[in-house]
Amino acid sequence: MSPASSARIAGASGAEAFLGLLVGASVLAGLMHGAFSLLFWWSGVPVMAWVNVASMLLYGLCTLLMIRKQILAGLLLAGAEVMCHAALAVGLVGWDSGFHYYVMLVVPVALVNTDTREWLKWTFALGVMAGYVALDVLFRHAVPPYALSHAVLNGLHYFNIVSAMVILALLTTIYFRLVVRAEGRLRELATTDPLTRLLNRRALRERITLEERRQQREPRPLSFVLADVDHFKAINDQHGHEVGDQVLVQVAAALGHGVREVDHLARWGGEEFLIVLPDTDEGAAAVVAERLRLAVAALRLPGGGVVTATLGVAQQGQGASPEQAISRADAALYAGKHAGRNRVVRADTLPEEAPA
Ligand code: GH3
Ligand code: MG
Ligand code: MG
Repeated sequence: MSPASSARIAGASGAEAFLGLLVGASVLAGLMHGAFSLLFWWSGVPVMAWVNVASMLLYGLCTLLMIRKQILAGLLLAGAEVMCHAALAVGLVGWDSGFHYYVMLVVPVALVNTDTREWLKWTFALGVMAGYVALDVLFRHAVPPYALSHAVLNGLHYFNIVSAMVILALLTTIYFRLVVRAEGRLRELATTDPLTRLLNRRALRERITLEERRQQREPRPLSFVLADVDHFKAINDQHGHEVGDQVLVQVAAALGHGVREVDHLARWGGEEFLIVLPDTDEGAAAVVAERLRLAVAALRLPGGGVVTATLGVAQQGQGASPEQAISRADAALYAGKHAGRNRVVRADTLPEEAPA
């Protein structure tokens, strides 16, 4: 996936940050042209001073366009300004002034824009490249009508090189941060349950794989607790889906408070939660599960009704897979539902698991 498309997928915040970048760049460009205008008055090139005043006004318009989200119009205007400004500057005071370097900065800005169609961006970027070559052919060996002193020309030359590089570095840094932020958001979307903000099933599977690898290096007990809210369908039916959702959020928070940092808690299904407890045997996991059961039982529905959950506990046996342990925790949970709910059942107490 390209950074631009990941930034787009990451949603409004990515697009808004990009817009913020354009507005900031436009304001900065306006201010820089103001400073150049003063410099040209001082150097005795009034025509260039006026050109810079015009540029400042153009960047004001450009900023307005960006703020009004007319990004393509803003970019075209800024691109045209950079091109014309560079042409006038190198035409009037000479190629050595180095104003042509700014033209190159338009290329990355045009191409990272997420709101414009691909062919349009490339047409624009290729146009800028061709424009740069045209400036080179026309002005590199031409004698300028305004002969600046060697010192001023040298000063301009190095100032323009450094400032073009600083702008490039800033643009790259800001864009890189936007991409990293967008990636973070995408990762969060892919691994988090949107309602409860817990890990989702897929993220927990990844954590389980990591725990398995850890176990292969150094065998340690690993336990699973499967928790299911009791009669949740009735809660939805009596109080509505919205309240049902809120109950799930509260159950998730109660479970989250009851587990350690190293434990992995996820929403495993609709009203079902799975907790993976590293370095924990079945007995210790049952103690944790009982604490979690009490935490859920302390929650109240609107009107004062109680919320309860049934929890099945299983330790992963020697040579067994996590899936087998989860399936045994599920069997324990199922037994708990049959025995009347609101309880913790250990898999090793089930009749089919009892030693002969
Ligand atoms: P048991 O005690 O046997 O677990 O009964 P139950 O009613 O909790 O179980 P059942 O499987 O019959 O119903 C689960 C309900 O959970 C049905 C489904 O509509 C509801 N549910 C699943 N996901 C969500 C959700 O995200 N929000 C809400 N509000 N309800 C959900
Ligand atoms: Mg249930
Ligand atoms: Mg269920």
